[in-house]
Amino acid sequence: MPDLSVDYLDLDSLLSAEELKLRDHVREFVRARITPNIARWYEDAYFPKEIAPDMGALGLLGMHLTGYGCPGHSAVEYGLACMELEAGDSGMRTFSSVQGSLTMTAIHMFGSEEQKQRWLPGMAAGDLIGCFGLTEPTAGSDPAEMRTTAVRDGDGWVLNGGKRWIGLATIADVAVIWAKTADGISGFLVPTGTAGFTATPIQPKLGMRASIQADITLTGVLVGNEAVLPDAHGLRAPFTCLNEARYGIMWGAMGAARDAYEAALKYALERHQFGAPIAAYQLTQQKLVDMVLEIQKGTLVALHTGRLKDAGMLRHEQVSFGKLNNVRQAIEICRQARTIFGGNGITLDHSPLRHANNLEAVRTYEGTDEIHALIMGQAITGLPAFVTAP
Ligand code: FAD
Repeated sequence: MPDLSVDYLDLDSLLSAEELKLRDHVREFVRARITPNIARWYEDAYFPKEIAPDMGALGLLGMHLTGYGCPGHSAVEYGLACMELEAGDSGMRTFSSVQGSLTMTAIHMFGSEEQKQRWLPGMAAGDLIGCFGLTEPTAGSDPAEMRTTAVRDGDGWVLNGGKRWIGLATIADVAVIWAKTADGISGFLVPTGTAGFTATPIQPKLGMRASIQADITLTGVLVGNEAVLPDAHGLRAPFTCLNEARYGIMWGAMGAARDAYEAALKYALERHQFGAPIAAYQLTQQKLVDMVLEIQKGTLVALHTGRLKDAGMLRHEQVSFGKLNNVRQAIEICRQARTIFGGNGITLDHSPLRHANNLEAVRTYEGTDEIHALIMGQAITGLPAFVTAP
C-alpha cells in the first residue's frame, strides 16, 4: 500500500518541530476520540459536550489568546489544530471556533478585567461554554440591520429581540449578545439563566449535524451595567471576532478535504472493478490528482496567511481569499471523493459526503462566498458593491 498522506510537496518541512508536535497531538486526539464516534453522533444529531474539558486540557479553546488560562499559541499552531479538528468533523472545529475565536475573543479583546477573570479561565478549560449572538432572523450578511435592542433601565439594560443560528446557545453558560443601543451597536454578556432568555435548537439539519445551532429569544432580559463589553463600539467589534474564526476556517476546510482524499485513495486502492483496483483507472487518478493539487495549494495559502498573521501583517481581505478559496475547493474535493465510493459513498460509513454536507454550512457562516467575493472585489477595484445603487 503506498503512502496515503497527501503531503506531496513536503509542506511539513515548512513547519517547526514544535508546530509538528502540536499538530500530531491534536491528530491523535481526533483519531482516538472523534473519528470512532462521529458517524453515530452525526446520525443522532448529537454534540458531545463531554469532550469540551478534554479539548480545554489540550489547549484547543481560545488557542490564540494569552493570559486567563488561555494557551497563547501562534496563529499557525491555531490553524494546524483547526485543520486536525475539522479532519474529524466540521462540528468539532466549529465548537472551538464559537467558543474560542468568537466568544472568548470578544471577552478578551473588549471585556473589562472583571469580565475576563469571571469567564475566560473556565471557558479555556472547557468547563464553561459561551456563544456569540450576532445573526438575526432578518439580518444575516448585513448585521447592521439587526433589530435586537438594549435600552437603559436605571443602572442596567433591558434587551429585547431575537437571534438565529447561534452556535452552542442551548448549552451555553454565557451569551455575547450584540444589540442596538441609542449610541450604536454594543456587546452584552448575558448569563443564559437570565429571565427572558430562551434558546431553541434548529432542527433537523442536513449538514453540521454533530453541532448545535439555535434560535435565541430575548424578552425583557434585564442585565446590570457590568454586562456591557466596555471596549466594543459598533460593528467593528464583532467583525474582529469573525475574522479570527474565518482564519481558522481556511485551515479547517483543508482538514476535511484531506480526510476525504485519504479515505478515497484507500478505497480506490482496495476496491476492484473490471479486474483491477479502481485506482488503476486513469479517470480515478485524475480525480485523485485534482484533489492533491487543491489540498496542497489550499494548505499553502493557509500557512502563508498564518505566517502573515503571526508577523502582524495580515489584512482582513486576505482572510477572505483563504476562506473563499479553501472552503469552495474543499466542497468540490469532498464531492469528488464521494464519487470514488460509488453507492457506499452515500452512507455514514465513509466521511466524504458528511464533510461535503458540513462544508455547505461552513461556506455560509462567517461570511458567505458572495460576501467574501464582494470584500475581495472592493479590495481589487476600490469600488464597494455590497448595496445596489438607490
Ligand atoms: P442571507 O444574508 O439572507 O443571504 C442569503 C443569500 O444572499 C446568500 O447567498 C448571500 O451570499 C446572498 N447575499 C446577501 N447579500 C448579498 C449581496 N450584497 N450581494 C450578493 N449576494 C448577497 N451567526 C452567529 O451570529 N453566531 C453563530 O454562532 C453562527 N453560527 C452559525 C452556524 C451555522 C451552521 C450556520 C448555517 C450559520 C451560523 N451563523 C451564526 C449565521 C451565519 O453567519 C449566517 O447564516 C450568514 O451570515 C448568512 O446570513 P443568512 O443565513 O441570513 O443569509
